[in-house]
Amino acid sequence: MVEPKILTDPCTIVIFGASGDLTWRKLVPALHSLSCDGLIHPNTGIVGVARSPLDKKAFTDHLYEGVLGYARLKPEKDTLCAAWQQFFPRIDYIHGDYDDHELYVSLGKLLDDPEIRSWAKGNVLFYLATPPALFPVIVGHIGSAGMNRSYPGWRRIVVEKPFGHNLKSARSLNDELYSVFTESQIFRIDHYLGKETVQNILSLRFANAIFEPLWNRNFVDHIQILVSEQVGVGTRGGYYDHTGVVRDMIQNHLLQLLTLMTMEPPVAYNAWSLRDEKVKVLQAVRNAKLMDCVWGQYRGYRDEPGVQPDSRTATYAALKVYVDNWRWQGVPIYLRTGKKLAERSSEISLQFKRVPHFLFPESYDPTPNHISICIAPDEGVHLGFETKVPGASMKTDSVDMIYRYSDRFETYVIPDAYERLLTDAIQGDATLFARRDEIEWSWKVVDWLITAMEKPAAAPPLLYEPGSWGPEEANQFSDREGFTWHHSCSRE
Ligand code: NDP
Repeated sequence: MVEPKILTDPCTIVIFGASGDLTWRKLVPALHSLSCDGLIHPNTGIVGVARSPLDKKAFTDHLYEGVLGYARLKPEKDTLCAAWQQFFPRIDYIHGDYDDHELYVSLGKLLDDPEIRSWAKGNVLFYLATPPALFPVIVGHIGSAGMNRSYPGWRRIVVEKPFGHNLKSARSLNDELYSVFTESQIFRIDHYLGKETVQNILSLRFANAIFEPLWNRNFVDHIQILVSEQVGVGTRGGYYDHTGVVRDMIQNHLLQLLTLMTMEPPVAYNAWSLRDEKVKVLQAVRNAKLMDCVWGQYRGYRDEPGVQPDSRTATYAALKVYVDNWRWQGVPIYLRTGKKLAERSSEISLQFKRVPHFLFPESYDPTPNHISICIAPDEGVHLGFETKVPGASMKTDSVDMIYRYSDRFETYVIPDAYERLLTDAIQGDATLFARRDEIEWSWKVVDWLITAMEKPAAAPPLLYEPGSWGPEEANQFSDREGFTWHHSCSRE
């Protein structure tokens, strides 16, 4: 029996789409590792719901494979972890058509089973892990089956990304959710916010006195946000071809990073204060000009399974935005993301202005100072500054002062983002989840861009070589703007 350190409420997690990849690779391995660490209540159960006609054994065997393959703490290797034994008796599975009311009647009966009620105390976390088109259907049925409320106990719902396809559909999904749940019951997930290093942006900014006074237009020259992937679309070609880089990455992950980097200090670390500040940033983002955007498509994308042979979907974007407020007026923020790029890397660099007058003639054009926050893969923070080269002259050189998570917390394996987010959702803490207005403002930021890109008369995305850093035009763009793209977090 695992001794709990933090007790979440006992609850049943009902996963719709439970036969799928997310449940297999992420959700159940995360729940298993949390159990191993004693971070969730031992009375946490799972009910998988999907169309595939699996029996309970086939379902639990399938989940076990996922736990063995993907969990941070695995049942066989980590002898301390006996959680699977504790876990699997509380796993159930029901199958049916997501649009069939009978499925929800069966689910309601299961949740009202006196034994489940006695250990889960009526608490249910619904998790939408199906293709997004099914989200409104499932929400409507949960409502009409009366499963959105319980006394005693609480009911909450986690909604996976993508949340909508544009502003209109995001609003409509929010309306559907509001017809069944209240805001405090809804957890719109962006797994980026569950990453330790993303949360570290907040501690770097607000737990230190030395950075925040510099964090504004008086000292910062520009900000770069990079999220690059080495992989292509893989088996998700059909989905991606209708989505593209702006919906897939910018509307959610990159804008989340932008808000955390540029928001005002919240009055408290709680869901309302933090999200209030993030929304103010999104309201202040000025529409990018098309001449400040570079779109690309990797060579070979059109041959991927599920992709149209004449597809104009962009797999790469580099663009400049501004946040029009007192703190950031006039500071360019460059967003860059793409697939099949040279490296997998997520990093944010804040480049400071040049010194007003440089004293040392032996050094020509010193590199401006920068802080780079490395989100993945080599988590940490880099501070770039000038130092004197030893010797008789006053020549200077740029050095990088590096803090690596792995050096400071040697034995600590960074938990998967889903571990943190599942715990928070069970605890009812929405700080790291998007609020309705946040989602809609972020769609407003990108909606016009998507419309402009998707016009038949719009120029097609520029081709780039897989394994490169995107189209050459992105370098021409940075040359015109007078900066170079940072790759501070690359492993040497
Ligand atoms: P899958 O494509 O694996 O689908 C999940 C399940 O939904 C399937 O097992 C299937 O179950 C059911 N399903 C699939 N297609 C249909 C369909 N056309 N009609 C009805 N049911 C269907 O998705 P993932 O598990 O990869 O993702 C689930 C959600 O999580 C998506 O919204 C995705 O965007 C999001 N997400 C996924 C990530 C990942 O790493 N996989 C990462 C971030 C977000 P059955 O046929 O048994 O009903």
